[in-house]
Amino acid sequence: MLIDCHVHINNYDSNTHKPASETAGELFANMARVGVDHAVVLTSYQVSPHRPHVDEVIELFGDDPRISIIEGLRWRGEGERTDLFRMEERIRDGLVKGIKLYPGYENYAINDASLEAIFHIAGKYDVPVMIHTGDTYATRAKVRQAHPLLVDDIAVDFPNVKFVLCHLGNPWFQDAAQVLYKNDNVYADISGLTLGDFHYEFERYMVQRVKDMIMYMGDPGKQLMYGTDWPLAGMGTYLKFFNGLELPDEAKENIAWRTAARLFRINTDALAPGKTASS
Ligand SMILES: [Zn+2]
Repeated sequence: MLIDCHVHINNYDSNTHKPASETAGELFANMARVGVDHAVVLTSYQVSPHRPHVDEVIELFGDDPRISIIEGLRWRGEGERTDLFRMEERIRDGLVKGIKLYPGYENYAINDASLEAIFHIAGKYDVPVMIHTGDTYATRAKVRQAHPLLVDDIAVDFPNVKFVLCHLGNPWFQDAAQVLYKNDNVYADISGLTLGDFHYEFERYMVQRVKDMIMYMGDPGKQLMYGTDWPLAGMGTYLKFFNGLELPDEAKENIAWRTAARLFRINTDALAPGKTASS
């Protein structure tokens, strides 16, 4: 069983027009090819012809057991911002399984007081809050706001809320490891550590960074989750990278799917078993 807890259906090539339905088709084709049983789709902090609104994504996937949807919040950027009442309804109705925040991209600190209302909703429905941490794909973003150490503040102040450090805080792996080690309500995904496919030297470099984190924080199966950031990173290259971590079987199974299944309440019984993570 393999769950990819971090994919997008945005079109990142703004010179082409590609409807979200086409990207969704490519997502399923890639999942089948690599043996991913379930994918968690994160919507953007922007809505544009290239980045569908969460309602459109819900409509697109319906109640497909292979997909969970996480709502990306538009909190500070230009244009219409997320209406928290509507977001809460989507969470209450089970259409959305979690919240994604993009503090670097939208230039706010993750410990900003304005976010309290969001954390209260997450706590009330026990859905995770995923946070982009570390390097930003856009040069217009402010990377200081995406530092993983800031997540410690909210992990302490909102102990009943579960947070996910996306991308392991790359390149602040040691800070991310400390936040994870200290806080049982913080999780992390290993997604987005490369753009496209890993090349050999860089893959070895990243494998070592993740091994160093695990050495420091202890049992990685408790908090780490498999994710890719597809289509920004390739699914095949990522599975190879994951296998390169050479983890013990139990930790590997937990990272590959068990921890994500629990956190996002994914009904794994409804999934046809694909290839295992070790294949
Ligand atoms: Zn992402």
